[in-house]
This record gives sequence, structure tokens and C-alpha cells, in this order.
Amino acid sequence: MFATHPLQPPVDAMALRSTLLRIVFNGQQTRQIHELKKKEHAGVTKLREVVEDRLQEIKRSKTWKHERILTSPQDTKVKVKGSEGEFLNFCANNYLGLANHPEVVEAAREGLSKYGAGLSSVRFICGTQTMHKELEDRLTQFHGREDTILYDSCFSANTGLFEALLTSEDAVFSDTLNHASIIDGIRLCKAQKLRYPHKDLNELEHLLAHSQARLKLIVTDGVFSMDGNVAPIKGLRDLADKYRALLAVDDSHATGFFGETGRGTEEYCGVKGAADIICSTLGKAVSGAAGGYTTGPKELVSLLRNVSRPYLFSNAPPPPVVAACLKSLDLVENSSELRQRLRENTRLFREGMTAVGLTVAGDDHPICPVMVGEAALASDLAAGMLERGVYVVAFSYPVVPKGSARVRVQLSAAHAPDDVRRAVQAFADVARNIGFIQK
Ligand code: PLP
Repeated sequence: MFATHPLQPPVDAMALRSTLLRIVFNGQQTRQIHELKKKEHAGVTKLREVVEDRLQEIKRSKTWKHERILTSPQDTKVKVKGSEGEFLNFCANNYLGLANHPEVVEAAREGLSKYGAGLSSVRFICGTQTMHKELEDRLTQFHGREDTILYDSCFSANTGLFEALLTSEDAVFSDTLNHASIIDGIRLCKAQKLRYPHKDLNELEHLLAHSQARLKLIVTDGVFSMDGNVAPIKGLRDLADKYRALLAVDDSHATGFFGETGRGTEEYCGVKGAADIICSTLGKAVSGAAGGYTTGPKELVSLLRNVSRPYLFSNAPPPPVVAACLKSLDLVENSSELRQRLRENTRLFREGMTAVGLTVAGDDHPICPVMVGEAALASDLAAGMLERGVYVVAFSYPVVPKGSARVRVQLSAAHAPDDVRRAVQAFADVARNIGFIQK
């Protein structure tokens, strides 16, 4: 038992006091809610009815999102509220392990001390600091482009791109499995919207050949997050050239680690410079904090600074976050050690899983979807893993096509080889126990 100060009541009395306080507080809260409900506006009552129906529907379709609450920093081992001990974490986009890297954390602390918590302003009013310009310049150089515009997230970068650039005279050609932020961004623009089947270059060519649009913009994820597979960048570039189209690549699951020097999907595919426009995130491999950007022709970036709504009407990224991103870029550029470790962990996992008879889909990428098929089996597999202290998540319809439920595993450079081996062993044990593979 902890010693108490002589002026404090003994621990038992303190516990009793806090229990009493909680009862009184909860009672007050219930009364307050009751009072509020009595004078509830009719519109809110209607809202409850409508929303309750939708919530029930989400529960019936078993797509309710349960959030596990972490009580520790994001890392390869995490603590989860309500559970004892630590879990081995295989479901963050912390590809290079920078989210809680000591140098990145220290840089964020320094950014906070030097530049404060935030800007209380959008960029063009009084929200631009030297570090915002520095980060934009660093990203421009990193990608070998003309200019870069920073957003608070890649979701914002994507929702701010299409509406700013394209008018009703233009057309956008989008892979059916593109990320939600691309889909939403396209919804906001007035251009003709054409979707081509996932990675299907023949169908895309057919659409391009029949288009009379002024600007034709092909847009794809560089790496698709549910499948861990890579867009056919070379083929897309060839089609863009043939039909005088632009190619935009969302490289959120590639920037910083994919390709020899971490320049992303075009480097991995051996066609550096193939994309005309790159949108990417600073919330995954590079820092893991937050932020996004669009890099490409300087005229595009100038236009975005003037008309892109998520940029014009939302606060500048906060200084500690920008400082963390700058430090992360140093780490990405100055050493290949983290990328090498990530590649080794990815290989160890993929080979280990194949050896025990499990199928991992996707290309040579740290997104490793363990294919199961039936939704219930995938959910049992993920639950069994959690019981063994390994945190992974199952995905089923409608997030992925019917019949292709899976457990998605994401490797990090920060995993020790033994962490990876432990995960493979746990997968093998649980898959056998639930009858998914032979004992
Ligand atoms: N684009 C892709 C392909 C993503 O996977 C994500 C995040 O899940 C985003 C964009 C959004 O990134 P951010 O978290 O920076 O908004």
C-alpha cells in the first residue's frame, strides 16, 4: 500500500470518498440528462429516431467499429485499456517506427517550445511559419518536383485537389479501389467522373480513347491499403502519354519506405518521375503524427494555394507536428537502415506464413493481408490472435469484397525479428485451433 501524507486521509478512506463522489456525480449527470431531455427541441428528438435506426442497421450488418483505447504511445508494443499487459501491435501504419522515435519526439518538443502549440489561423492570413516553408521545400526536393503545398492531412490534400483543378470541361479517371478521400474529392468536382476496374489498363484505355475532355486526369493509389498491391505505374504512365492525360498518385502507403530510397511507388516500379502529381501523408511512415501534401507542377501548387478549400479554410499544421515531420525526413533521407529492417521483417513474415500454409496476398509490401474468405473465420482468427497478445484486425464485407475476408497485418521497422516470429507462430496455432488449416 502507498504511504499517505499525514494530512491526507488513509487510502481506504480516500477510496470510499471517491466512490461516494462518483455516485453523487453520476446522480447529478443522470438528472441533468433527464432535465435536458424534458426540454429537448423537436428536431433533436427526430434526429435520435433517424440516427437510432441507422445505428441499428450498422449493428445488424456487423460493421460497427469498436475502438480499442490505447493507454500507451503508438509503438510495436501497446497497452490497451481494460486489458492486462502489453500487446504486440501489427495494425498501425507506423512503417518506419517513427511515431514514437526518441529523436522525433524530441524534435516535436523543441518545435513546441520554439513556435508554440498552434497558429490560430489559416496559412494565408497569418498561419505560415518558416518551418512550414522549410517542410514544403524539403518535400519538393525529396520527390524531385517543382513545388509542394502542405495540408493538415492527406485526406484534405485529396479533397482539395480535384475541385480546385478540374471544371466541367475536364474528366477524371479513377481506379475503383481508390481511397475514400480520393472518392470524396472527386465527388466535389464538376468534371466528368469515370471509374475503371481495379488496375485494369485495357478498360482505362477504352475510357481515355473515348474522352474529348480538355484535361484528363488519371488518379490511383500507389499501393492499395486493403490488398497491399501496387498500381501498374508504368502502364498508367504509358496511357497518360498516349492520351495526353495527367497521372496523379496517392502514395500514402509508400512515401518514405517503398522503393530503394523510399521515394515511393514510382521508384519501386522503376519509373521515377512517372507521376505528374503526388499526394501523400505525413501520418504514416514519415513521422506518424499528421499532415499531408500535394507536390507537382508549380502552377498547380500556386492554384491550390489560392483556391483549394481545405487549405484556405482550415488552420495551418501545428508547429510540433511540422517539427516532427522535418526530423522524420532527416531520418528517412540520411539512412536506409530502417527501410532495410522493414524489408527484412516483411520477408520474414511473408515466408513464415507461407511455410505454415497460410496465404498472404499483395505484393512485396509490409501490408500483409492474411486471406481467410469467410467473415466469421476472419473474426475468429483475429480474436484468437488478440487472446495470444497479438493485436491484428479482421476486415470483411463491405470494407472488402464478399467472400474475401482477411486479417490485415502491417509490419514495422521497429518490430524485432522475434516479434515477427511470435506473430507467425500465433497465426499458425490459432488457424489450426479454429480448423482453418490442418493440425
Ligand atoms: N490516402 C490513402 C491511400 C490512405 O490510406 C489514407 C489513410 O488511411 C489517406 C489518404 C488519408 O491520410 P491522412 O491520415 O493523412 O488523412
